[in-house]
Amino acid sequence: MRFAPDRIFDSISEITPKMLASLNIKGLILDIDNTMAPRNIALPDALLIRWISVLKEADVRLYIISNNWSARVKLFSQALGVPFIPTGMKPFPFSFLKAVSRMELPKDQIAAVGDQIYTDIVGAHLAGIEAWLVMPIDRDESLSIRFRRHLERPVIEGYRRNRSREASR
Ligand SMILES: [Mg+2]
Repeated sequence: MRFAPDRIFDSISEITPKMLASLNIKGLILDIDNTMAPRNIALPDALLIRWISVLKEADVRLYIISNNWSARVKLFSQALGVPFIPTGMKPFPFSFLKAVSRMELPKDQIAAVGDQIYTDIVGAHLAGIEAWLVMPIDRDESLSIRFRRHLERPVIEGYRRNRSREASR
């Protein structure tokens, strides 16, 4: 099992069509909660709608997988006009594999983006696709998520150490 994300971003807004093109990534599988919006926000805001439309204009294929329940995921995804899989059961790879086949792109041209290592990152890697971590939007999180963050910290610090070592080479 691979816990270390392939890339880390402070926010999804750092992910741009230009950057994706330079990596030959043509599709993104997106998490909702704390990746694109706080958990308690029902609908996407104007900035997020704009980010999605810029990606669509650049022909980036998009798919949403959320572990959240169906009505929340449906409302949010439809507002963005992005196909979705609710109750995704990440880190099991099944939803990722389903999204990959529907996106009709080779696996190495798809990256999954999420805020949690033990669901989003591990699940994407189990499905054989690249996994990108974004720093969670929400600070006000439940205890169980906060506990998981505690477990994630050494993985993120390890990634940052490797990166700075690479940069100083
Ligand atoms: Mg999330």
